[in-house]
Amino acid sequence: MKKRIFSKEHIKNLKLNHADISGEKNPFYNKKHKRKSLKKMRIAKLGKPSKLKNRTYEEIYGVEKAIRQKKKRSESHIGKTTSEKTREKMSKALRGEKSYLWMSGKSFEKYGKEFNNWLKKKIRKRDNYTCQYCGKRNCDLYVHHIDYNKTNNSEENLISLCGSCHTTTNHNRRLWGDLLSCFMSRKINEYNYNEEWAFVNAPIVSIK
Ligand SMILES: [Zn+2]
Repeated sequence: MKKRIFSKEHIKNLKLNHADISGEKNPFYNKKHKRKSLKKMRIAKLGKPSKLKNRTYEEIYGVEKAIRQKKKRSESHIGKTTSEKTREKMSKALRGEKSYLWMSGKSFEKYGKEFNNWLKKKIRKRDNYTCQYCGKRNCDLYVHHIDYNKTNNSEENLISLCGSCHTTTNHNRRLWGDLLSCFMSRKINEYNYNEEWAFVNAPIVSIK
């Protein structure tokens, strides 16, 4: 279709000549489509690519309108809360097997007996009470299994991570496993000359 270009004056005239049908003046105000027509509309759109898909607000509306639209959108959420009933429904819908993080029930496996508070404390002390990935201190440290095997509690397989780093290790498990095991093997090589590491690396039973 040929693009029609109107002069500013013409646009002004068009606006004047056309009745204002915004808000309550709209003939469809407060009305709803019938189910039948909704179905028809849906079928007519099926298989056709959306004009808005993969486009930013700026591309669709232009910069000025995009700012207004974004503001409107964010303001519409202010003061609104989801009821407890809805929240429960939402959490139920994505729990367990339905979660995208579901790993065939791996999280229900039990930790080995050796994985006790004493060992965790020891690992945190070895890592100088810092998150080994981001270097954060003075925070809760989680002792993480590098190969995600809960029964492999050798000290090379354990590492201290802060909360946010520990959460990110839940995604991209293969990559994180490789990265952290590489880091640990390097660390062990460095510490091999250090007497302190020899103490730390001694079997747990003999220290007890
Ligand atoms: Zn961290």
